[in-house]
Amino acid sequence: MLETLRKIVQEVNAAPDLESVLDVIVRRVQRAMRTDVCSVYLLDQERERYVLMATQGLNKKSVGQASLSLDEGVVGHVGQRAEPINLEDAATHSSYTYIKGTGEHKFHAFLGVPIIHHRSLLGVLVIQQKAIRKFDEAEEAFMVTMSAQLAGVIAHAEATGSLTQVAGQEKSESDRKFEGVSGCIGVAIGPAVVMTPLADLDGVPERKIDDIKAEITKFKQALAQVRRDIKKVGRSLAKRLRSEERELFDVYIRMLDDNALAGEIIARIKEGQWAQGALKLVIGEHVKQFSLMDDPYLRERATDIKDLGRRMLTCLQESGPALSEIVFPENTILVADELTPAMLGEVPTEKLVGLLSVNGSGNSHAAILARSMGIPTVMGAVDLPYTRIEGLPVILDGYSGRVFVNPSDDLEQCYRDIIREENEVNAGLEGLKELPAETTDGYRMPLWVNTGLVTDVARSLDRGAEGIGLYRTEIPFMIRDFFPSEYDQMETYRRQLEAFAPRPVTMRTLDIGGDKPLPYFPIQEDNPFLGWRGIRVTLDHPEIFLVQIRAMLRAAEGLDNLRIMLPMVTNVQEVEESKKLINQAVDELREEGHVVNQPLIGVMIEVPAAVYQVRRFARRVDFISVGSNDLTQYLLAVDRNNPRVAGLYVSYHPAVLKALQFIAREAHKENVSVSICGEMAADPGGAILLMAMGYDVLSMNATNLPKVKYAIRGVSFERAKDLLDRIIVMDDPDKIHMMLRKTLKDLGLGQLTRPTIPD
Ligand code: PEP
Ligand code: MG
Repeated sequence: MLETLRKIVQEVNAAPDLESVLDVIVRRVQRAMRTDVCSVYLLDQERERYVLMATQGLNKKSVGQASLSLDEGVVGHVGQRAEPINLEDAATHSSYTYIKGTGEHKFHAFLGVPIIHHRSLLGVLVIQQKAIRKFDEAEEAFMVTMSAQLAGVIAHAEATGSLTQVAGQEKSESDRKFEGVSGCIGVAIGPAVVMTPLADLDGVPERKIDDIKAEITKFKQALAQVRRDIKKVGRSLAKRLRSEERELFDVYIRMLDDNALAGEIIARIKEGQWAQGALKLVIGEHVKQFSLMDDPYLRERATDIKDLGRRMLTCLQESGPALSEIVFPENTILVADELTPAMLGEVPTEKLVGLLSVNGSGNSHAAILARSMGIPTVMGAVDLPYTRIEGLPVILDGYSGRVFVNPSDDLEQCYRDIIREENEVNAGLEGLKELPAETTDGYRMPLWVNTGLVTDVARSLDRGAEGIGLYRTEIPFMIRDFFPSEYDQMETYRRQLEAFAPRPVTMRTLDIGGDKPLPYFPIQEDNPFLGWRGIRVTLDHPEIFLVQIRAMLRAAEGLDNLRIMLPMVTNVQEVEESKKLINQAVDELREEGHVVNQPLIGVMIEVPAAVYQVRRFARRVDFISVGSNDLTQYLLAVDRNNPRVAGLYVSYHPAVLKALQFIAREAHKENVSVSICGEMAADPGGAILLMAMGYDVLSMNATNLPKVKYAIRGVSFERAKDLLDRIIVMDDPDKIHMMLRKTLKDLGLGQLTRPTIPD
């Protein structure tokens, strides 16, 4: 059964569009289950009806015609109950409705299972038989498994189908909506530009071209290069291979012949597809055909074809324009399967208005960077067929995490109004720079910034930041090809320290691992967030740690504003060891004649174990800083990058709020200052709560700092404490959110809350 299931899913996955997907499903399931009928009814949201979309066994003429309302028929009943219904004789069921013309009256046994994707019902998968009999448990279990596996494919095919219509102008379906999560608030409108990692065939966007001749030449050059490469590899391995293995290289070369792959690719280019897109389509078709074969030897050939495809793609990409030469359109919305911090630097900032990532979530590091740059961003739009939206107009709603492809004029106008209102609010905040973040009853709340890029510094000062609460040192490490030298690091750090002096700059030691791998220091782990991360890596590599500390200390020479902060700490020994290494670096540098001061040292509270040791840490260090992004992830056991569980990543979860309050109290018992540098501090409502909890410093992205300052200046400390008292006893994060919004509105700070978005 497992093998049957695997094959069906594979074949369905290989189908090019929704119609073929459904057709494969009904044919294959009917055969596998040895039933008389298999049908798929899909829910038409607009008409609120189940429509028969494919069938094997019922009258084919009913496809697209026969439909049922939501509470009609056994199919409607399956949908309402969201569970399988297994009947000996469907006609005897109270909900049974016969749809004329389907020929359904001949069949008695009925098993319907709902097709559910991410909690929403897509339709119902049905099998029927002439005999009067109940399907057995194994059959039912098989159908449930099948439906669960197919739901994602159907959802994806539905989304892709509607976009194909848009792109192919068969029928213009506008306002095509995709759900993701917010990465950075704000709205952007512009054309999509899809960026793919090199040599990733699946990620190649389909793109139309005009100059077919030039594209064919480009392809032929790449082809010649690949032929030469393969021959070379074949020759160099000739002595070590047996003759039948050597033949593989000849097979490769033959596959590239004009009457084989190459011919097919050229035919696609002639249809107006760019060479990379043509390559992807042709290779994709062949890979699918081979991987469906029963013969394991032939199945393996799919790997060879994929390999050839990748080789050709590499050549094409090398011969194509370098990224820096690409002319990005005005108002570019950058789209990627997985947005990386490095990609953000590829597009000229004046052209970039929005970022869209199919994978990742609001707490991925790319999103954090986007926030520091103030670029509206949507993450985790998993159903978006991103390779097919190149050049299409897009509205990106960074408030609600939604994306609209090919928007209607009306919708676009609504969003243009929101952009205008946003600009007005921001203009109103500009005058705040010189004013203190002080409550209406005179309580002073220091507001610092989180930085990572050099450009953050100017923006932060411009917005009135009083210090850096978190400098993410891994960012300069991530955009290089090898570990930066002590001197390189020193220069980078000096820019941050100098620009802010005499204000304090908190430098975090290298926090790699988790979702922040270095290209030149790969860490392969099943559970990276529970693995080798942050201080665990650097204590295992004192040579990396010491070089970094030395660079920090040297960068601070004569400035005296350096604070060093340790990430991902779980026990006291890690603090002791780190302090020992820091002292060693201080001693070494002094011996070498540098005038370095002992820096202030702090510990980040990011894991539950650290929450319960705050006082022990506080006795050993100069300050405590809460990394609420990770703390939320670890307290709630929700991967901060996983879009499937993004809805469970709730900053205002009662457990998170309790922990934050506890940490502030514990640190103060030891008279140690406690700050927060997670994203929660950047939310005006969150900032008011954290102030009331007693946090001494709030550190946030530069973009949100003026809004937070405005909020602090609009509330009294007494009112903030009263709000905290009420919220800390509440159970429901949604209600907490609502109360925060209402309070901001009551205080006349309504413009700091999310704008009302069209539904
Ligand atoms: C945090 O975890 O809250 C934090 C500030 O660190 P990062 O987001 O870089 O992991
Ligand atoms: Mg962290």
